[in-house]
Formats: sequence, C-alpha cells, structure tokens
Amino acid sequence: MALIVQKYGGTSVADPDRIRAVAENVALTKRRGNDVVVVVSAMGKATDHLIALANSVSKNQSGREMDMLLTTGERQTAALLSMALADRGIDAVSYTGSQVGIITDTAHRKAKIVEVKGDRVRAAIAEGKVAVIAGFQGVSTDKEITTMGRGASDLTASALAQALGADACEIYTDVTGVFTADPRIVPQARKLAKVHFDEMLEMAGAGSKVLAMRSVEFARNHDVPLHVRSAFTWEQGTLVSNEEPSVEDPIISGVAAARPHHRARRARGGEVVRPSRSPKRTSTST
Ligand code: ASP
Ligand code: MG
Repeated sequence: MALIVQKYGGTSVADPDRIRAVAENVALTKRRGNDVVVVVSAMGKATDHLIALANSVSKNQSGREMDMLLTTGERQTAALLSMALADRGIDAVSYTGSQVGIITDTAHRKAKIVEVKGDRVRAAIAEGKVAVIAGFQGVSTDKEITTMGRGASDLTASALAQALGADACEIYTDVTGVFTADPRIVPQARKLAKVHFDEMLEMAGAGSKVLAMRSVEFARNHDVPLHVRSAFTWEQGTLVSNEEPSVEDPIISGVAAARPHHRARRARGGEVVRPSRSPKRTSTST
C-alpha cells in the first residue's frame, strides 16, 4: 500500500463544486488502496481577502495577529473537504498545522520549519482515515501560530511527505504541469514530463508561480520528488526531481517569465531558454 500526499492549491478548491471534485479524486485515490494525506490551501483568493480585511481595520498589523487571521483560510478548506469526503463514505479528519506538529521558528509571516512531528497524521492513517491538513501554517517554538510565507502550502506538503516517508507527493494546481515557457504568452510552449529541481529553482527565481521557491528548495534538499499536475483535467503532469537528465534529453528546458535582463537569453520564437542547470542562478526575489 502506497502513502500519497496530495496538495490542492487555492484555485483547485475555490468553490463548493471544486471542493466536491477534489473530494472525488481523494476518495478515488483512497479506494484504490492507498493511504492518503491531503494538504489544502485557502479557497481561491481567500488569503488576499483576509489581508485586505486587515488593512481595512488597521494601519499596522502585528505578525502574530496576521498569522492568527491568515491561518483561518486553510483551516476553512480543510474542514469543508473533510465534510465532503465524509459524504462519500471516506473517514476523514481535518487538522491545523499546529495539531500535526509542524514546529517553526518565531518569524511570523515567514516562519521556517524546524521540525515536523506528524504523530497525529500517522495515528489517523493507522486508523484508516484520510488526514486533511491546513497548509501554510505551523506553531512556533514559542507556541504561537505562524505562517510560512505566500504559497507555503507546497512547503507543508513536501515537509509532510518527507517526515512521513511518503511514496509520492502530488501538487495539484490549475496548470497541467511545468512548461518550456508560459503557455499563455508562448502558444507553442511544451509541457515537460520531467524537470530537475535545479531547473525548477531557476524557473521559480525567474517568476514561475507553479511551485513556491522554498518548497522546491526543501524538496530538493530532502529528495522529495514532486509530481505537479492539474486538479481540473487530472492528466499526467510533470515530475520534478533530482533525477539526472539522460543523454537523450534536450539540454534546454525553460523558464516562465522574461524580465528585461533575461533578454540576452531569448531565443528566436519568443521562448526563453537557458542551458540546463547553468551555474548562474537567478535571484530568489519572488
Ligand atoms: N493561502 C496561502 C497563500 O495564498 C498559502 C498557499 O496558498 O499556499 O499564499
Ligand atoms: Mg500556491
């Protein structure tokens, strides 16, 4: 029996229909005989709305109160998805990051993970349950609720996959995988079946939003292969891993953004290309 961690991003759980569709996929994965641990983001633009709400009541927000507020977004999705799973006869239980022992440092809004305990997740799995975990959040060494930066539900998923020794970590999003260029800008962009972590890091540094930078760094450093795929089409996506490219693989992969200083590397046809894992790294500003 395989243990699969599935992470669903904001667009994948944006409304009740989407949450039901995700529940179907989780139920299917479970019925195929797998153990399933789910990590969820806040619904749609919920996090942006919470930030706007905070700005509308105060000029300066403390990190502590912002984290108390922002963590509610993911918590909402986790409870709703667990209910939708129960409707499908799947025994599911939701947890906050704190409840599953995602221990972070004390830097509110950009906390770093210091330890993942995961005991309650292991116990839930042992009871045949699907554990649904609110992403993006943890509890600090000072026992305060923390968040780990925008997009950090990906990090929750890879950190849990590593701590639990999962067989797969699937990152469900609104694109069908990682492309040679942004398909909205470059129509002839191709989906890549496999991407090396180092290339993915360069793409994230260049503005690709497919995976959050810190989750790619974590996954690379702990060797947790990430399978990026669509929660809309469910088709086979892109495997991001430490696997060395074979001699047959093209040495050019791709990036998703073309800022002015990348122009020198712009190839004919508008595609931004870059030699595979060149030593020169793009800045990590995004
Ligand atoms: N909801 C958080 C954000 O919008 C975390 C995430 O989606 O991964 O940044
Ligand atoms: Mg995201």
